[in-house]
Amino acid sequence: MSEKKLRFNSTLIHGSGYKDKLLSANVPIYQTSTFAFGSAEDGEKCFLGESDGYIYTRLGNPTIKALETTVARLENGFGAVATASGMAAVNTVYMALLEKGAHMIGTQAVYGPSRSVMEEQWKRFGVESTWVDTTEIENIKKAIKPNTKVLYIETPANPTIAVTDLRACSEIASQHNLYLVVDNTFCSPYLQNPLDFGADVVIHSMTKFINGHADIVAGMIVTKTEEMYRKIRPVMVNLGGNMDPHQAYLVLRGLKTLAIRIDKAQENAMKIAEYLEKNPKVQWVKYPGLKSHPQYELAKKQMRGPGAMISFELKGGFEAGKILMNNVKLALLAVSLGGVESLIEHPASMTHSKVSKEAKLEAGITDGLVRFSTGIEDVNDIIEDLEQSLSKI
Ligand SMILES: *Cc1c(COP(=O)(O)O)cnc(C)c1O
Repeated sequence: MSEKKLRFNSTLIHGSGYKDKLLSANVPIYQTSTFAFGSAEDGEKCFLGESDGYIYTRLGNPTIKALETTVARLENGFGAVATASGMAAVNTVYMALLEKGAHMIGTQAVYGPSRSVMEEQWKRFGVESTWVDTTEIENIKKAIKPNTKVLYIETPANPTIAVTDLRACSEIASQHNLYLVVDNTFCSPYLQNPLDFGADVVIHSMTKFINGHADIVAGMIVTKTEEMYRKIRPVMVNLGGNMDPHQAYLVLRGLKTLAIRIDKAQENAMKIAEYLEKNPKVQWVKYPGLKSHPQYELAKKQMRGPGAMISFELKGGFEAGKILMNNVKLALLAVSLGGVESLIEHPASMTHSKVSKEAKLEAGITDGLVRFSTGIEDVNDIIEDLEQSLSKI
């Protein structure tokens, strides 16, 4: 492609800029651990960083590089670092930005392991953390200590779909000299670009919307600046959470349809949310596209669409949740999200069944809470299936 900056949908298809002598339409899978040097001098240049030649796949690989380049462009970042999983991305960022004696503030209802690894593992190395409801900016301000280094936000957050104000977070972060890290998994770069609101680092579990086909686990870190990129890249390389070339190829393939998948999924989600809001078995529905969502206006300001994730509360509580799970036929009873297939989950009886009642309530998980990841099936089939299963309650 020319130098011209491509728009989003074109970047999905052509954003890697990859070209080889054979002009292959797809980036080939460089399934190799190591790369030979043409000469001692070539090898020397590679190690000195004076050439962009490849050395060893943990350090870099053309297939992985193509994916990193594309996602960095989609997020308007300087550069990106691909990882084996979303959690490898999270831990690489923690390792790069925190040290013994440092403190981090995070969104209370983040993806569970992003919090538990901090409280159970990083704590052993002297890293402190405080988890607050970041939808109230005052809570963040109150939690700041002299040793706070990182503000870690997930928006919308899991599973409450609560929206945090990215611009306000970025203002607090710059006033207090904190790094602002945003997990953008729920939106993907198609719906939200946190770096444009002042974030320093964006994290993705590409397992979800970016790959979109529930056949791969993968992660990505995108940095706003070159300095941040140079800080994070060596940590990934030395920690060893690198992506595999075949994995990169599959994500490149899934990524091409990101926009049309999300367009369809959120069109479906809006209809499902409206249907659920009218269903007498349902107490409330949380979906950023509904006027009843507590941060409806904020979501419109920072997200380009309401997305495909819906939470709702059943009036019948725990038992109603189990009846619903046992009667849905189309949506799969499964964790994860962001694929072409609809997934339904009842945290109280599934993911959070071992968690204490107090801890569940603190995270916003009530007994009748159901999370729905909307797929791209015919919406009438999804609604008819919910209708027949809700009628069993
Ligand atoms: C799934 C998920 C992760 C972790 O990603 P993996 O690819 O499963 O390691 C992190 N954050 C969010 C919001 C997620 O949904």
